[in-house]
Amino acid sequence: MATIFTKIINREIPCHLVHEDAHTIAFLDIGPLSDGHVLVVPKEEREFLHQLSDESAAALGRAVARVSRALVEELGCTAYNILQNNGADAHQAVPHVHFHVIPKAPDGRGLGIQWKPGAIDHAAGAALCARLSKRMKPQVGDP
Ligand code: AMP
Repeated sequence: MATIFTKIINREIPCHLVHEDAHTIAFLDIGPLSDGHVLVVPKEEREFLHQLSDESAAALGRAVARVSRALVEELGCTAYNILQNNGADAHQAVPHVHFHVIPKAPDGRGLGIQWKPGAIDHAAGAALCARLSKRMKPQVGDP
């Protein structure tokens, strides 16, 4: 399942590199929503977040936090969004897991969000939680 991000990881096409370690790479988005819009990508080739190994997911979370810290320090931005799309219906264009780190610019540029909250059904929510928690199996290496 090689995508354009695999080509970037393998240096077959160029990128503006921000960070690289054994499990992840981070580079500027070619179509930024604001200055400093960075993509953080696992080297593991998976389309969806839930398909990642725990090792890769942990490294990705660490890299997202570190890239965010660098952006806050360097740009002095006081707000930013993390976006992670899974599936074409959820706006995913490149089928290789990636996190967007999108600074909110002083002029308002950045991620626009349409958020239409409903009202929770507490009984249905409690039943769902009971079912979900059964699926949260302990993993080797859990703290
Ligand atoms: P998504 O909709 O979450 O899949 O976002 C894919 C992102 O990848 C978009 O924001 C694109 O601008 C970005 N993108 C696609 N090709 C490249 C590339 N060659 N270098 C950097 N960013 C890219």
